[in-house]
Amino acid sequence: MFRFRDLLERASDELAEAISREHGKTLSDARGEIVRGMEVVEFACGIPDLLKGEHNESVGTGVDAFSIRQPLGVVAGITPFNFPAMVPLWMFPVALACGNTFILKPSERDPSASVLLGRLLHEAGLPAGVFNVIHGDREIVDGLLSHPGVAAVSFVGSTPVARHVHLEGTKHGKRVQALGGAKNHAVIMPDADLDDAVNALMGAAYGSAGERCMAISIAVAVGDDTADRLIAKLEPKVKTLRIGGYSDLNAEMGPLITGEHRSKVCSYIESGVGEGANLVVDGRSSSNLGKGFFLGGSLFDGVKPQMRIYQEEIFGPVLGIVRVPDLDAAIDLINAHTYANGTAIFTRSGSAARAFTSAIEVGMVGVNVPLPVPMAFHSFGGWRSSLFGDHHIYGREGVRFYTRLKAVTQRWPRDVQNAAEFSMPTMK
Ligand code: NAD
Repeated sequence: MFRFRDLLERASDELAEAISREHGKTLSDARGEIVRGMEVVEFACGIPDLLKGEHNESVGTGVDAFSIRQPLGVVAGITPFNFPAMVPLWMFPVALACGNTFILKPSERDPSASVLLGRLLHEAGLPAGVFNVIHGDREIVDGLLSHPGVAAVSFVGSTPVARHVHLEGTKHGKRVQALGGAKNHAVIMPDADLDDAVNALMGAAYGSAGERCMAISIAVAVGDDTADRLIAKLEPKVKTLRIGGYSDLNAEMGPLITGEHRSKVCSYIESGVGEGANLVVDGRSSSNLGKGFFLGGSLFDGVKPQMRIYQEEIFGPVLGIVRVPDLDAAIDLINAHTYANGTAIFTRSGSAARAFTSAIEVGMVGVNVPLPVPMAFHSFGGWRSSLFGDHHIYGREGVRFYTRLKAVTQRWPRDVQNAAEFSMPTMK
C-alpha cells in the first residue's frame, strides 16, 4: 500500500489526463479527486491498527476470549462515471488491506482510470488476481450480483440502480452497501457572510458541471430578503462562468458526460419553467458553448417542493432557490426530501449551526463548508434513498464492511480434563 501510494502520486498527472480526456472535467478537478482518493490509500496503510481485535484474559478459570476481524473473500465494486478514480479508491484500498481480493466494474463511460490504477497496483507488487478490472454495463453487474463466488458488493451510482443492486445482491446472500443519488440543500441564514456563501455555492453547484453526488443543487434562503441579496450576487457570477474543454486551463466547468445527459438536463430546465419557477439565468443560451456537450450554468428562483426540479436529481449545472421563513422550516423541508446525502448551513450563529446539525436527518453535514465529503479516516454515506445497506463507505465503516467478526474462546487445560457438562457453561 505504501508503494502503491507512492506510484499513485507519481502517476497523478497521467491519471488526471486520462480522467479529464474521457470525462471532460477540468484537469484541476481531476487532480482534486486523485488527492481525495489517495487519502484512502494512506488510511489503508494504517489498517493493522483497525484490524486489531479485542482480548479478555480469564473470562472463566483458565479461559481467555478474543475477537478477530477476517476478510470476506472475493468482493466487488461497481462505480459511477463522475469520479472514475476517487470512487474506486473509496473501496479497493480498504478491501485489499483487509485481506480480500477485489473485482472492479468501472463505469463504461470512463473506464481508463481503473485500468491505470490496476497497472500501478501491479507495479507495486500486488500478486496477479488480487485486483481485477472487468468492463461492461448492467449485464456484468447482474452477473456479479448473482455469482456465488462474490461475497460482498460495494456500489456507487444512481438511486434506482442502487436499489436494484441492494435487492438483487442481498437476495443472493451477499453483503451490500449501495450508495445512491442526491439532492443536497445549502441553508443560507440571514446572518451568513454572503460573499463567502456565494463563492461556496458557485463551486458546489457548478463545479464539475454539477455532476457530483455532493453538489449543492438547492439553496434554501431563510428570511425576508436573503434570496434577493443572494441572487444579486449570484446572477452575474453564473452568467460569466468560464466553460471549456479540459485542456483550457481557465475553464471553471467542463461539458456534461453525454449529449443524452445534456438533453435530459435541458428538459429539467424546460420543466422548471413550465411549473412556474423563475429562470433567472438560462444556461442553454450561454455564449461560447461551442461543439460538444457544454451547457452553461442555470439559476432558478421561486422553486417549490412539489416541482420536479426540486424533487429529482438533475445532475447538471442547475441551482434552485427555495425561500423559507425560518430555520425550522428549512429543517422540515430538507428532512422531508427523499434524498439525504449531504447538506450545509451558512451562518455566523453557533446556536443555529448546532440546532441544524442536531435536527437534520442527512448523512453528511457541513457548517460553512459546502461539500462536506468526510476525510478518509471518517466515513462517507447518506441516509434514506441515498444509501441502501448498513455501512457507510471507507474509514472504520469500510473496515467493518470488508471484514467479518470472529469470537474465539480458548482454554489450555494443564491437568485432568473436566467431566462432560450438559448445562449452558457459565463463568466458574
Ligand atoms: P448509474 O447508476 O447509471 O451507473 C453506476 C454503475 O452502475 C455503472 O457502473 C453502470 O455501468 C452500472 N449500471 C447502470 N445501469 C445499471 C442497471 N440497470 N443495472 C445494473 N447496473 C447498472 O450512475 P452514473 O450515471 O454512472 O453516476 C451518476 C449517479 O451516481 C448520480 O445519481 C450520483 O448522485 C450518483 N453518485 C453517488 C455517489 C454517492 O456517494 N452517493 C457518488 C458518486 C455518484
